[in-house]
Order: sequence, then C-alpha cells, then structure tokens
Amino acid sequence: MEKKNLDWENIGFNYMQTDKRYVSNYKDGKWDDGALIDDANIVMNECAGVLQYAQTVFEGLKAYTTESGKIVTFRPDLNASRMVDSARRLEMPVFPEDRFVDAVAEVVRANAAYVPPYGSGATLYIRPYMFGINPVIGVKPADEYQFRIFTTPVGPYFKGGAKPITICVSDFDRAAPHGTGHIKAGLNYAMSLHAIVTAHADGFDENMYLDSATRTKVEETGGANFIFVTKDNKVVTPHSSTILPSITRRSIMYVAEHYLGLEVEERDVYFDEVKDFVECGLCGTAAVISPVGKVVNHGEEICFPSGMEKMGPITQKLYDTLTGIQMGHIEAPEGWIKVIG
Ligand SMILES: *Cc1c(COP(=O)(O)O)cnc(C)c1O
Repeated sequence: MEKKNLDWENIGFNYMQTDKRYVSNYKDGKWDDGALIDDANIVMNECAGVLQYAQTVFEGLKAYTTESGKIVTFRPDLNASRMVDSARRLEMPVFPEDRFVDAVAEVVRANAAYVPPYGSGATLYIRPYMFGINPVIGVKPADEYQFRIFTTPVGPYFKGGAKPITICVSDFDRAAPHGTGHIKAGLNYAMSLHAIVTAHADGFDENMYLDSATRTKVEETGGANFIFVTKDNKVVTPHSSTILPSITRRSIMYVAEHYLGLEVEERDVYFDEVKDFVECGLCGTAAVISPVGKVVNHGEEICFPSGMEKMGPITQKLYDTLTGIQMGHIEAPEGWIKVIG
C-alpha cells in the first residue's frame, strides 16, 4: 500500500479528512450491516436528537505501525465495551462489541495509506461515535441512531519530547456523584470548555478537577486520568465512580505491577496529600503519559521533585515500557495488540 505523501513529523493534532469512514444505522430496533462510505458529511433533520439533547457518545484509539511494519491497534476490545457502558447510560442501543472491533479494523485497512510510518511519532487516530439521528422534540431517547468511525492522522503529541506541564485546581466541577463522569459522552466535554478556556487564559495547561461532593479528593483532568508516584516508588491512581476509566491508565497500572514490579494502589487520593508525591502524570490515548511538573491551587504551588525539564524516573519507565509494548519492542500481555494488516 502506497502511503500518502504527508509531512508525517509535522502534521499536528488536527482533523484531516481521509478516504473512507464506516457507517451503520439503527432503525426499527436493529443495526444494519454497515458499510464503508466516501462522504464525510452527515445530513440529518434539524430536530435530530443529538442536536437538541446531546444524545451522543464516542471513543478514541489509535492505529500505528510497529517496528516490524505491521499496522496494529491497542486493546480495541476495551473501547468497544466502554462504548457499551456509555450507550447504556444515555439510553442508546448497544453497538455489538465484536462488530465494533471488526469495524475499527475495516476502516483502518481502508485508510492504510494514512497510517503513519514507524518512527515518525505520528499515528492514525480513530474516532468511533454514535448519536441519535431522528427528530426528537419531547424529551426522550431517539428511536434511530447512527454509528460511525472516521480516522485522521495525527502528529506526535509532544514534538521534541514531553515537557512537564503546569495544571491548576479548577473552581468548576467536571462530574456529579451519580452523574455521567464515568462515560465517554460529548456532554462532559461541552461543559468543560469554559473551564479549560479559563485555565488557558490564566496560563495553565490543564485543570485538575476535585470530587464535586466534598472538593477534597483528586478526580482527573478534562480528558486524562492521574497517576502519582510516592517517595517509596508506589504508583497511585485515584479511585472514583465519577472518573472516566482510561484504558491507558489501566494499562499503566498493569505494567507498573507486572512488568516493573512496583506496588500499585487505586484508592481515594486527597488533595492534601498531593504535595507528598514525587511524580505526577496524566494518562490518555493521545499522549500516553503527560508529565505534570507543577500543580497550582489558588496561588499556592506544589512543585514535584521531578521538576519542569523532564519526566520523573518512574513515569519515564512506565512510558517507555507501555510504548515499547505498543510498538512491538516488548512482548505484550495476551490480547493487547490487535494486528490489522
Ligand atoms: C478518553 C478520556 C480519558 C482517557 O482515556 P483513554 O482510554 O486512556 O484514552 C480520560 N478522561 C476522560 C474524561 C476521557 O474522556
């Protein structure tokens, strides 16, 4: 397959239209067979459920080229099952998990010319999503839905290596107890836009959200889960029913325990103990781990000993091991890497 002639090292993190997308429609209580199509635009009624009441959920994963030249994705079965959970919470029909995984493979194969070459640092970002498409004016779930997957090549998240970022404790809340913080829904992002624009205007890279019930515990950022490292090299991640269960974070905790022999803990993390940690990182598909150098809480600064120049040593080991597994240098746990072509 001839690759597109793109400047892989400099494509940035923007939408670029690719050749094919996958579409399946849900009507009269069932999903149709699904197909790859060329049209990147969607025509829907002005009263479509998604436009009026935001009935939409999504996923995000990447396809990339390993050192041996294979195109692979990382744990797509977990994206499939998470989308089932998201759909159920918003009263949407479930797109079958096996069909989700097959459709991801199909759309990546159809856009193989856009999968960046090994070593470029770039990847093909895959965006599955589903939304209510028929007219809905009285508040209720839609009857008809569309499931789609498009792909877009994205550049390396950090050009020239990951520099630690500075985050601030947000005065806004991300998720309510018994709300929708644990599902991957556009609605959680719509309401976070004001908070992130505010944080950027104040000179911060990201927000640290606290639990909205007590505002004493660390939750996550707008789109990534936290890991912390203690003085005695324990890897700690917040446990909460209102954070989105990041696949990257779950994989990192596994790698910490089973590949690096570190102690791991998933538990309540009080903001008061953040100052005692020696490293901090943000976990998500886009960057794998973004190191955090500083947390600012209304002018009061917490500076991690790992500093503002590079990742802390444990964070670096976790990053190297997980990306090594993803790129095929390190043997992966059973089922983590799905070879597509
Ligand atoms: C997608 C997402 C993450 C990261 O999850 P990954 O599966 O690791 O990409 C973290 N937090 C929120 C709120 C998210 O939407």
